[in-house]
Amino acid sequence: MSTSEFEIIRRFFSEATVIRPDVVLGIGDDAAILSIFPGQEIVAVTVPLTVDADLTPDTSPRFLGSRIVALGTSQLAACGASPAWLALSLTLPEADVEWIRDFSAGLSAAACEYGMQLVGGDTTKGPLNLTLHTLGLVPAGKALGLSGAQPGDLIYVTEDYPNTTPVDRKRYPADSAPQKNADMSRPRIAEGLALRGLASACNVLREGLFTALRGIMNASDTDATLYNKEPDANHGADDAMTGQTGEHCLLSPRDGEFELCFTLPPEGRLELETRFARLASPCTCIGTVVEKPGVIGVAVK
Ligand code: ADP
Ligand code: MG
Repeated sequence: MSTSEFEIIRRFFSEATVIRPDVVLGIGDDAAILSIFPGQEIVAVTVPLTVDADLTPDTSPRFLGSRIVALGTSQLAACGASPAWLALSLTLPEADVEWIRDFSAGLSAAACEYGMQLVGGDTTKGPLNLTLHTLGLVPAGKALGLSGAQPGDLIYVTEDYPNTTPVDRKRYPADSAPQKNADMSRPRIAEGLALRGLASACNVLREGLFTALRGIMNASDTDATLYNKEPDANHGADDAMTGQTGEHCLLSPRDGEFELCFTLPPEGRLELETRFARLASPCTCIGTVVEKPGVIGVAVK
């Protein structure tokens, strides 16, 4: 069966998502034209779905569609960005209409949920490859990054650690993951927005807490001390162990992949608690940022 690229785009992508007022020109022309207000910046994230981790022959296309949007959006959330637009690069071995319909339904549902518009892309024939460009908006200078953590900052995760169950991505059955684990597969968008102007650095867990934390620590040239039990009121480091070597730390296996790990200057603590209480979202303080061992000039007494 031959279905032209044009027909596929028309049927499954051109009206798949919400229509945003800031899209001057969407699908159908040479390029999309997007309008932003003065004082805004665009945050851009590219997400490939890799064959090994995400694309197995029995993975449902509907799940893949929603998952690729959630992956990109969760990274926007870690930047404190508000999700806005998507562009999809789709390479398929053949024009399998049922597959594309189901994939588009998953992508469409997730994009609509997060208020995003699919504004363009490309559709080609070849070995299966899915890449999504995800764009979000943030007030100028307010995007969260990896490199702002300072010694003395508190380390948090957007999770109620003692009460969470482990997520093992590889055990996701073809169709059930989003339904079964709805909250765990929700990008922490509102939480990311609430961290604007408050967190000093932020990362999305994806590959687990230690990888996310290491990303922040490396970029910020700092080290981390993690509590190995519930932190006390003073956040004392008496019961601490280092994050870099803490394989026995109780926190390590509990990695909800879309949770955010962030650092916070201690004076922001009350404001954080207020904002997260308003969202009815949990967050847990799990440690402290410390000087990297061997940093010259720290041990001034
Ligand atoms: P052609 O390959 O015929 O030159 P284009 O690649 O320019 O056509 O695609 C036509 C329009 O459809 C463009 O606006 C493009 O952004 C959009 N488009 C193509 N593939 C997709 C897709 N998978 N998802 C969303 N938009 C798409
Ligand atoms: Mg094309």
